[in-house]
Amino acid sequence: MSDPIASILDHQSALVIDGALATELERRGYDLKDALWSAKILLEQPKAIQQLHYDYFLAGADCAITASYQATIAGFVKRGLSEKVAIALIQKSVKLAMAARDEFWSNKANRIGRRKPFVAASVGPYGAYLAHGEEYVGNYGLTKNELMDFHRPRMEALIEAGADMLACETIPSLIEAQALAELLKEFPNTTAWISFSARDEKHISEGQVFADCVRLLEDNPQIAALGINCTSPRYIPSLIRAARQVTNKPILTYPNSGETYDPHKMNWKDDPLAESFGEQARDWYDAGARLIGGCCRTTPEDIQAIAAWVHSSR
Ligand SMILES: [Zn+2]
Repeated sequence: MSDPIASILDHQSALVIDGALATELERRGYDLKDALWSAKILLEQPKAIQQLHYDYFLAGADCAITASYQATIAGFVKRGLSEKVAIALIQKSVKLAMAARDEFWSNKANRIGRRKPFVAASVGPYGAYLAHGEEYVGNYGLTKNELMDFHRPRMEALIEAGADMLACETIPSLIEAQALAELLKEFPNTTAWISFSARDEKHISEGQVFADCVRLLEDNPQIAALGINCTSPRYIPSLIRAARQVTNKPILTYPNSGETYDPHKMNWKDDPLAESFGEQARDWYDAGARLIGGCCRTTPEDIQAIAAWVHSSR
């Protein structure tokens, strides 16, 4: 079982995760106003995704997260695609990130002082498939087995496409994390990280204590890292410190830019912080995080600011 995280952390004090995909594509002028943005852009403008992955590698990301967050077989079929096309689109998200990585790595100048970046295939939560912000709420009313059935075919497709690992992200509830952890056992050669969304300094979105969730997942050898993403940066230091007490696995964090997403209004509220994103990232490192990047509304510039100190302090 390969663990791309450990092989980079053996050589660097921290590992740089990339930044936002969807909100950055919107900033670049692409229209993502679709319940399944990833379907739209994977179908119509895949090169824009590949270019953005490339730009994040260039900015210093050691890892790309694929555009499969909201790409699910059930979601695509609901939109009128066949199951076969749905699987092909999900796998395309992996191929695009791998192509960007290979192009980046083929240039000698890009390899100076760097480890070869890897591709983590995004496994978004069930709530992202519902597409009304439920990933920040949880309480789906589904059993663990039902959640496993939902996640199984996409997980299989992403692994088959050749992703280096899985990024189970923005998970709002303990039961969904446990469903994913259990499902991983069906793919014994695969590693994954599990990253929750949080509602405050202590609790994940559905209300469970984050440190308790981490402790319950600690024993699964296929989970290579645990953490928090798509959450306000102001909650991050105390969440990381609490997790640090209960796990020996690397802790990851890639919060939002500092603006807050309102799942009811489905928009972003400005919530400016005094420090820049790159500066705050040092606090997350000091708190114990070893994989650091950005989620919604972060940009290649934010990732560059993190990489500047991570890659110079090896
Ligand atoms: Zn996000």
